[in-house]
Amino acid sequence: MTETSRLTLDLDALASNHAVLKAAAANASHGGAEIAPAVKADAYGLGADLVAGRLWDEGARGFYVARLSEGLVLRQALGDRAATIYLLDGVTPGSAPAIEAAGLTPVLNSLPQIEAWNSHARGRTLDAALHIDTGMNRLGLRPEEAVVLTGAMDRLKFLNITLVISHLACASEPDHPLNARQLARFTEAAALFPNARRSLANSGGIFLGADYRFDQCRPGISLYGGGPRDVADDRIKAVATLEAPILQARVVPRGESIGYGAAFTARDTTRVAILAVGYADGVPRAAHPRGAVWFDGARRQMLGRVSMDLIAVDITDCDAARPGAMMQIIGPDLPVDDAAAAAGTTAYELLTRIAPRARRVIKGG
Ligand SMILES: *Cc1c(COP(=O)(O)O)cnc(C)c1O
Repeated sequence: MTETSRLTLDLDALASNHAVLKAAAANASHGGAEIAPAVKADAYGLGADLVAGRLWDEGARGFYVARLSEGLVLRQALGDRAATIYLLDGVTPGSAPAIEAAGLTPVLNSLPQIEAWNSHARGRTLDAALHIDTGMNRLGLRPEEAVVLTGAMDRLKFLNITLVISHLACASEPDHPLNARQLARFTEAAALFPNARRSLANSGGIFLGADYRFDQCRPGISLYGGGPRDVADDRIKAVATLEAPILQARVVPRGESIGYGAAFTARDTTRVAILAVGYADGVPRAAHPRGAVWFDGARRQMLGRVSMDLIAVDITDCDAARPGAMMQIIGPDLPVDDAAAAAGTTAYELLTRIAPRARRVIKGG
C-alpha cells in the first residue's frame, strides 16, 4: 500500500543534529551551553512528543513552545520527565492558572505580563524567564523598560527570574551589523539580572561565535535538518523525508501542455510521472517552475503547476519510474533548504506546512 505521500521522521538524524549543535555550543570558558530545543508548532510540524522524547534521551532538559496549548500537550507527552517547558507567548490574559497547573515557565514579554504573573504568584515564588527585546521589535521588554524594572523590584517580588533571553533577527547572516548590536544590548541588559542565566542564540546564533552562546542556546531548525544559514549544511542531517508514489507514467506529445493554466508546454515528446502529492500535502504551489524531486540518482524537474493532489515530474530517460515507485520531495538527497529556495520560501515554512495527509513513519530508536 503506497498510494499516499509518506513523511519519515528519522530520530537518529535528530539525535545527530543535536550532538552537532551541542558540540558547537561547547564554550571553552564554561564547559558548554545548554541546548534547549525549540519544539513550538509541533516541533516544526514533525511531532513535538516524539522529538522532545528523543531529545530528552539525548540529554535536553529545557524545551520552548509558543502557545499555551502546545505547552499543555508537551507536558502531558513528557509525563514524569521533569523538563522545563518555556512558554514564549508568556502570560496572556487569563492564562496564569493554567500555566502554573501545567508547570510551565512563562517567558515574560512586557510589563503587563510581569504584573500578571507577579500578582498570580502573590505570597509564593514562581519561576519565570524574562524576554528583553534587543532589535527584533516583536516581543520583549525594551532595554530601558528593563532598567525601570530593576529600579522597582517589588514588581518582581514574587518571581524567581531564572533566565533572561533575547532573540536575533539576522542570525543566519553572519555579516549583518544587527547581530553585534543585539549582542551588545543583550549583554548590557542581562547584566541587570546577575542571578539569571542568559540565552540569546537560535540555530544560526550558535555559529556566530562563542560570545553569542551564553548559558543556553535555543535551536530549532537545525535540529530538524535546516542549515543554520538557511542553506543546506553538510553537518546537519535530514530529519524529515517526504516521498510520494507515482500514480501514472505517461507520454506528453510535443506541443501539448501539462496541468492547470497550461503553464508548461512540452517542447519535445516528454515522459512524465504523475505523483500522488500536491499543495494539500505541503508541496508549495510556488514550487512551479523551479521545483524538483529526487529519484533514481538524479534531480527531476517538476513540470507545470502544482495541483492540490498531484504534481508532474519529467522522467524522460528514466526507465525506473514506474507506478508505485516513491520519489523524494525533501530528504537526504534533496535538502529541505534547496526545496524551499526553489519555491521562494524557507525550510521553516516548508516543514511546518507538511500536512497530516502524509502518512507518518518513524525511523530510529
Ligand atoms: C523559533 C525560535 C527559536 C528557534 O529558532 P531557529 O531559527 O529555528 O533555530 C529560538 N528562540 C525563539 C525566541 C524562537 O521564537
